[in-house]
Amino acid sequence: MIDNRRISAAGNLWVAALFCASLLASWFGVFSIAFLLGGVAIVWCVRLALHSPPSTDATAPNSAPEQVVTERSPALQTALVAAPPDAKKEDQIVAELSAAIETGQGLRVLYQPILDANTRKIRCAEALLRWQSDLLGSVEPDIFIPVAEAHGLIGPLTQLVIGHVSADLGAAPHPFKVNVNISPLQITEPGFPEMTAQAFQTRGIDPSRIEIEITEGAMLADPASIPVALGMIRKAGFTIALDDYGSGFSSLGYLRRFDFDTLKLDKSLVIDAVRSPQARAMLEATLTMARSLNMNTVAEGVETPTQADVLTAMGVDMLQGYFGGMAVEIQELSDFLSTPDQPIVRRKHA
Ligand code: C2E
Ligand code: CA
Ligand code: CA
Repeated sequence: MIDNRRISAAGNLWVAALFCASLLASWFGVFSIAFLLGGVAIVWCVRLALHSPPSTDATAPNSAPEQVVTERSPALQTALVAAPPDAKKEDQIVAELSAAIETGQGLRVLYQPILDANTRKIRCAEALLRWQSDLLGSVEPDIFIPVAEAHGLIGPLTQLVIGHVSADLGAAPHPFKVNVNISPLQITEPGFPEMTAQAFQTRGIDPSRIEIEITEGAMLADPASIPVALGMIRKAGFTIALDDYGSGFSSLGYLRRFDFDTLKLDKSLVIDAVRSPQARAMLEATLTMARSLNMNTVAEGVETPTQADVLTAMGVDMLQGYFGGMAVEIQELSDFLSTPDQPIVRRKHA
């Protein structure tokens, strides 16, 4: 399989990082070639082997019994996502985003349906932020969320999302539960759970209608504070999902140690589950663990009926992805929820 991506040149540092990632990636059975052409770095990653052979070395870091290591190294993954904005662009994003947060203009929340795997009906939805800037055009969350985090804008941005979600839930004719992404930086902020619960409550929304999604990254960012922080979030009435599980070095230990209501399986696991028996076996172990801990499971990035069927047969509880529909305006989600037998949402929106 050939993955061909163009990455805007963002200085020597970025290219150096790319080469380091390529080197690291080679440990995982991935052969990467990076070269520069006319100021544009083009990376061809030729994945020679889809699956690295299991390590026979008991001392190897990925042989820890409870650690599930996906075949992409985090360094490679970081290198393959959209290139970070350069300093000038970043300044523009900060200025434009600050203004957008101030006025609320250009920022909206869409909802991606999450389907029950067995009935294929909508069970809940994930709130996903969209930003259309007059100056910069449409900017992806993968670009502007990290900038917001780095420049102290993530708090106000989250408040804005909470405002939108509360208003939408308050006006929706059919009650449903919404998953809200919270930055790892905010999870351990003192008072964050109480203030967030209050923000929803003052707008008439009970926190039990909200599931807070936190990523694996949060577990690594501040592991000592996480158990207390999760306890406070739960005490405030929210349920909690572990997001992007399997996107990096995922540990079954997290599942045992921390009390999550839902486990969201990263789309890389979904893709691999259809292609490889080895990946399926790993996923099965994860699902067994999740079931024994009474956690719901959601497969993310489900795009095809085959993926949906394989994952349903494996016992995944819920499906999220283009198979069920892209993120849509609240009105459209409400329309689907209003139809008596809630057909599968398959329309694709930009
Ligand atoms: P995420 O939480 O993992 O959200 C799922 C992402 O996968 C979304 O990208 C969604 O559009 C995309 N997606 C959904 N179905 C499919 C599929 O079938 N195939 C593929 N290839 N992709 C699919 P999006 O909206 O660009 O968001 C990217 C990330 O930005 C999110 O990843 C989340 O980490 C962050 N984000 C989005 N909204 C917010 C927010 O309100 N607050 C915070 N803190 N982060 C947010
Ligand atoms: Ca999420
Ligand atoms: Ca996710």
